[in-house]
Amino acid sequence: MTAIAVLGSTNMDLVAYVPKAPRLGETVTGREFRTVPGGKGANQAVAAARGGGEVVMIGAVGADGFGVRLRSALTAAGVETAALRTVEGASGTAHITVDDEGGNSIIVIPGANARVTGLEAGDDSRIGAADSLLLQLELPLSAVLAGALAARAHGVRTVLTPAPAQPLPGELLAATDLLVPNEHEAAALTGLTDSYQAAEALLHQVPEVVITLGPAGSLYAARGREPLTVPAPRVRAVDTTAAGDTFVGALAVALGEGRAMPEGLRWASAAAALSVQRPGAQDSMPARAETDALAA
Ligand code: ATP
Repeated sequence: MTAIAVLGSTNMDLVAYVPKAPRLGETVTGREFRTVPGGKGANQAVAAARGGGEVVMIGAVGADGFGVRLRSALTAAGVETAALRTVEGASGTAHITVDDEGGNSIIVIPGANARVTGLEAGDDSRIGAADSLLLQLELPLSAVLAGALAARAHGVRTVLTPAPAQPLPGELLAATDLLVPNEHEAAALTGLTDSYQAAEALLHQVPEVVITLGPAGSLYAARGREPLTVPAPRVRAVDTTAAGDTFVGALAVALGEGRAMPEGLRWASAAAALSVQRPGAQDSMPARAETDALAA
């Protein structure tokens, strides 16, 4: 089994399903409200566990009801949560609007995630035992950087999802092996809207980049190699929440199993395509056999 460590956020997603998202100052009537476990870190952890990885989650939940549910959702998915601390105060929450086209907009309130400012006892060895460390930007940068440096010191592959988009310290990029932005994050990081140009620019900072392009698939670029585009399976999306996290979790499993990047990308695309056809974040993530079937 591929061992994967995730240093990242856990949030309760408070999801409003609406025909059309409200514009600023507008009020709309939605159809339904759900609370579902999410957070980019936890989502990637669940995606990797469903994909067949042996996953440890490092982070924090609050000492509230949401925290209890967030932890048990991870445990139910088979994720190890001994390094998921319970800290005083509220768990992180994400306030999500999903429209009839499957598009979403999100406000994240960090809560307990903001208390994760670095590594704690045992985290270094958990990271060192992994094949990959999955990082995102929903924890304080000091923690993300500490994780990346620990992984680098152990020769563990670091996979960074630069979301939510923000300027990245050179030290973090220098400790990143694979950067996986979506097209908006790639544009925000480089100032370039053309994904090929953005990927080329990012290769000055990291050795490998995958830009996810929604229904258009993904673009892989590595230093000294021709860029490769991988189409997404054509499916009817009902909710794209966590599509990117499903993609990253699955990709990490595939790479950990020694599969080459093109094959890993096709497998990750299949996993993400399955997830967008179902509502929810972690609930929508496919089991390994389903991804195998679509990728075959
Ligand atoms: P999110 O923020 O919603 O989690 P993202 O913006 O990080 O997603 P996207 O680029 O939208 O990431 O999607 C990630 C991957 O999911 C894509 O590269 C693609 O493989 C798959 N995907 C997304 N939308 C669709 C779709 N409509 N049909 C098929 N595959 C999709």
